[in-house]
Amino acid sequence: MTSAWNNYFVPDTVAEALAILQRYDGRARVVGGGTDLLVESRRGLRRPFEAIVDATRMTGLGAIVEDTGHIVIGCGVTHTMLVNDERIERAGTCLSESCGVIGGPQVRNTGTLAGNVAHALPAGDGTIGLLALGGEVEIAGLNGTRWMPAKDTFKGPGRSVIDRQREILTRLRFKPTSDNEGSAFHRVMRPQGLCLPIISMAARLQIEGDTITSAGISMGPVGPVPWFAAPVADALVGGRASEERFAKAAEVALDNISLRTSKYRATEEYRATMIQTYLPIILAKAAQRAGVEL
Ligand SMILES: Cc1cc2nc3c(=O)[nH]c(=O)nc-3n(C[C@H](O)[C@H](O)[C@H](O)COP(=O)(O)OP(=O)(O)OC[C@H]3O[C@@H](n4cnc5c(N)ncnc54)[C@H](O)[C@@H]3O)c2cc1C
Repeated sequence: MTSAWNNYFVPDTVAEALAILQRYDGRARVVGGGTDLLVESRRGLRRPFEAIVDATRMTGLGAIVEDTGHIVIGCGVTHTMLVNDERIERAGTCLSESCGVIGGPQVRNTGTLAGNVAHALPAGDGTIGLLALGGEVEIAGLNGTRWMPAKDTFKGPGRSVIDRQREILTRLRFKPTSDNEGSAFHRVMRPQGLCLPIISMAARLQIEGDTITSAGISMGPVGPVPWFAAPVADALVGGRASEERFAKAAEVALDNISLRTSKYRATEEYRATMIQTYLPIILAKAAQRAGVEL
């Protein structure tokens, strides 16, 4: 088999990219920054592929734009671009914070949010930030283009409904937070050369007066896929934004997950304590950013 590097394509359009993927019939792979794909390929963790289709140079997909009430992020947008964008910092703060902790500057300069979501790891930081915001993804294939909630794309660790040999995650979007909304992200990690996240959490709250009217909570790794914590959001909505309610939310989270002890990450007990400690803190931060004095 020829090296995939001999067949490295940089298409200008989605149609061109899809045509190349079709020609290789499952033997080509879409690549963003390559910070996951190429590392895993070198370590022999991936089935060898014959061609690489670079999704970062397609016209119109290398920018962050505002469109029909959404902030829309092209698949060529890197973590650094997201962190440096004032609109993301203001109206998607938890996404800015989550992309800001990924790797080091080199990884953030090349790695994309699209790659983070398409990779479907339970602890993908950008993914956790996007989920709390209620993010959606656009998937382009030969049969057309569809938008779907990002939370519905995950099938298991590293497994996605996106067929990464035949489809392209072209754009991601979320509704910007308004004046009575705020969001926050926090990661507890164990730095060991490569960062090993113990637990990452993000929250988006909308508050009217002192009543929580809408919530989006996400967390990982707490299972095979990044967790969109609907039961936690349900426990928050309709109640008063208060320290007591935020502490209760952490208990609801723990009632709905089975944490495991990992010799590389932390014990089950430690991870539970981190959720009890930090989920109330990021909820309070999101509430303050929504303009509420606690
Ligand atoms: C040193 C180091 C540190 C890291 N630290 C972190 C960290 O702290 N937090 C974290 O979350 N991650 C971390 N990562 C992992 C990685 O950098 C991120 O997940 C990054 O966002 C991946 O994006 P990428 O564009 O490089 O993806 P790629 O490696 O290009 O692709 C990843 C997967 O997604 C697919 N894919 C990529 N783009 C598309 C697309 N547009 N459409 C369809 N499929 C696509 C690829 O086929 C592949 O399966 C680290 C990696 C390294 C090497």
